[in-house]
Amino acid sequence: MKPRAVVIGGSLGGLFAGNLLHDLGWEVDIYERVPDDLAARGAGIGTHQELLSVLAGLGIALEERLGAEVGDRVCLDPQGNTVHRVPWGHIMSGWANVYRPLKDRFPSQRYHFGKSFEEFDQRGSEVVARFSDGSQARADLLIGADGLRSVVRAQLFSGLEPEYAGYVAWRALVDEHTLAPELRRRLGNIYWFGLPPGEMIVAYPVPARDGAPGHRDWNVVWYRPILGEEALRDMCTDARGHHHGPSIPPPLVRPEVIDALKRDARALLAPLIAELVECSQPFFQAIFDVESPRLAVERVCLLGDAAFVARPHVGMGVTKAALDALCLNRSIQIHSGDLDGALARYNRLRGEFGRRCVARARRLGAYIEARARPERGWSAEQRDQRPERLMREVAASLSEIPELALEI
Ligand SMILES: Cc1cc2nc3c(=O)[nH]c(=O)nc-3n(C[C@H](O)[C@H](O)[C@H](O)COP(=O)(O)OP(=O)(O)OC[C@H]3O[C@@H](n4cnc5c(N)ncnc54)[C@H](O)[C@@H]3O)c2cc1C
Repeated sequence: MKPRAVVIGGSLGGLFAGNLLHDLGWEVDIYERVPDDLAARGAGIGTHQELLSVLAGLGIALEERLGAEVGDRVCLDPQGNTVHRVPWGHIMSGWANVYRPLKDRFPSQRYHFGKSFEEFDQRGSEVVARFSDGSQARADLLIGADGLRSVVRAQLFSGLEPEYAGYVAWRALVDEHTLAPELRRRLGNIYWFGLPPGEMIVAYPVPARDGAPGHRDWNVVWYRPILGEEALRDMCTDARGHHHGPSIPPPLVRPEVIDALKRDARALLAPLIAELVECSQPFFQAIFDVESPRLAVERVCLLGDAAFVARPHVGMGVTKAALDALCLNRSIQIHSGDLDGALARYNRLRGEFGRRCVARARRLGAYIEARARPERGWSAEQRDQRPERLMREVAASLSEIPELALEI
């Protein structure tokens, strides 16, 4: 009989794990809470060679639809003067551009939308997953790929909560064709940086969500400290006064909150970047750190953001999820017939990677956190906001980071 896996969460992490295990001959079912296709999720992502290699191993080639090469990195001051420039040349992609081929490749009858996982039961070498509709699924291995607010993690480690970093990321994806031709020309093919005190904004082109050749979107991410929990609470409260916890659905962000952001853009950012913000429909996500103490407990394991959430400055969340899935697969192959041994290897290797990744991302975001929490007494090194440093280290290639050069 084929070994069986149940994957909770059908986003990128779940799809990497599902596809790789399926190829290994496992019977895999993916359960996703959202009722229909996730491809509408709009976000640009930085890629790494290692991510492209995992995709290539699945037969998904790098083509125009998947990646766009971005040229130099340029940091502008509020007057629009160049304060620093570095050669770059990385491949940028989009969330939907990676999701689509992974989803299309996985057997559709084994991908279950609208299934909200509630809890699991371990019975010897079998795990039973229970869903909110009363249904159950049995497996030899349950993989929690259910993201930042993982329900699988919460059951494994009660009391472990994502830790708010003191700032948010305002994000937007702007269809290049909606921009004035002159603005489009000035934006060019550059990875732009703006560094107002205690803040960071980056903007770069990514392949468009619709996958049309040569069609691009501009991805904008602006990290801003939110001074005090009350201010975050206010931002997460909709026009009817309903509070949405630490994340409010994008359409419910109050217009005056967005107006204030656009006003600040005009005051703090170079005109070129401010114009891009002006043309966007931004939404925000609070930034969190998550570190799971273990990645596997008996026959349940965690992967991707369910396992570790590193602040996005490392630009590595999707690559980390892909490498987690690859490591799980390799561990299962190396320890053929010994799932406990495989999970022990997976826990050792990916636990170390995850902890180092979170630590690096914290270091890169410390100067923004310091602005939100000055009372914590930050060192000069932690508050280092020099463009020379940040433009070299933010979303650097995995191969250029010695502390993350670990076995998979
Ligand atoms: C501002 C920002 C910028 C980023 N930039 C980059 C970047 O440039 N490069 C990069 O690689 N990464 C980036 N990331 C990180 C990246 O988006 C994540 O690391 C990645 O999406 C994690 O994938 P995942 O599959 O582990 O989790 P998720 O994408 O969060 O997926 C979890 C899935 O589980 C489902 N789910 C949750 N609970 C349940 C349940 N109970 N039952 C069933 N299903 C459930 C959810 O609906 C969801 O589909 C960024 C993140 C942020 C916030």
